[in-house]
Amino acid sequence: MSAERKKKDYYEILGVPRNATQEQIKEAYRKLALQYHPDVNKSKEAEEKFKEITEAYAVLSDPEKRRQYDMYGEEGIYSQYTQEDIFRGVDFDEVFRDFGFDFSDIFRQIFEGFSERYSLDIEKDLDVTMLDLYNGGKKRITVNRYEACKACRGTGVERGSRWITCPECRGTGQIKAYRHTPFGTMMTITTCGRCGGSGKVPEKVCSVCNGTGRVYSSSEIEVNIPADVRDGERLRLKGQGHYLNGQKGDLYVVVHLVPDAKFRKNEYDLIADLEVDYIDAILGSKVGFYNIDGELINVDVPPLTQNGDTIRIKGKGLPKPYFGRGDLILKVKIRLPTSLSDEERQLLEKLKDLKRRSQEAQ
Ligand SMILES: [Zn+2]
Ligand SMILES: [Zn+2]
Repeated sequence: MSAERKKKDYYEILGVPRNATQEQIKEAYRKLALQYHPDVNKSKEAEEKFKEITEAYAVLSDPEKRRQYDMYGEEGIYSQYTQEDIFRGVDFDEVFRDFGFDFSDIFRQIFEGFSERYSLDIEKDLDVTMLDLYNGGKKRITVNRYEACKACRGTGVERGSRWITCPECRGTGQIKAYRHTPFGTMMTITTCGRCGGSGKVPEKVCSVCNGTGRVYSSSEIEVNIPADVRDGERLRLKGQGHYLNGQKGDLYVVVHLVPDAKFRKNEYDLIADLEVDYIDAILGSKVGFYNIDGELINVDVPPLTQNGDTIRIKGKGLPKPYFGRGDLILKVKIRLPTSLSDEERQLLEKLKDLKRRSQEAQ
């Protein structure tokens, strides 16, 4: 702890006199909490402020902690309680009952830090094109996250540091907490938050991560997008979230399919329109079609093909998970002429005449 750090005045923070009653303290905290709660106030300062007032309330609402604070100041609190212990036993549920805030939410926010408000999980949006899927769905994304500190392998302990008896629990691994209730003083025994119950703490913490065991960094990750993905689908990458105390959260990639001007899909099949000249449709023909990757495919259009008929090209669709590809499905759109030469007109007139005569003959 640096010497120039500003001393915290919990009374000043809550704006109550030093002889404030428990009721006054609670009232002051409720008012400020409503003003600075992260769900209401989105500014960065509000988060810090909310943490500050919550710490002040946690200390002053507990008679034992308040006594410690009155006698020894914040030094007395920090030497006696871990961060977790400061907040332990505070009845947030009671304070926020009529606000509609979830008490467990507030707790999580305090314990896990405000930038990582909800969990160790990360969610990231990813635009995926049809060509990406056709080419195997491999995408590289950059993720900013807490990773295990390499210097201490995520333990927070300086290499070669000695282990000493935990000053918090004096090596017992347990913390006795007294709560004052209308029914008398109740004692609860909890696992020591400082040493995790082992009774031992390192003498020196890791200088790279300041003992947190993690460092914030930016990493490139390869994501495999399955071709049958749906727009808006969340893909879970286990263990690719934030690191904290030996645990890793998950990374959720939210896939946004970029609409394609030419191609649609159905599971592993690619779907597109195939324009066919009306004479080719009637007589049958080979029609060239460029697939999504630029490959020219000679499509066999059978005689008397109708508008809206589908032609299936096997294995030219999207890749399947282990082997092979779906199909390319072409929907025939018959193109009619927009202008005719005199000769063409004459031939069509002849054709019409022929048709009329054959109908009359029946
Ligand atoms: Zn470290
Ligand atoms: Zn301990």
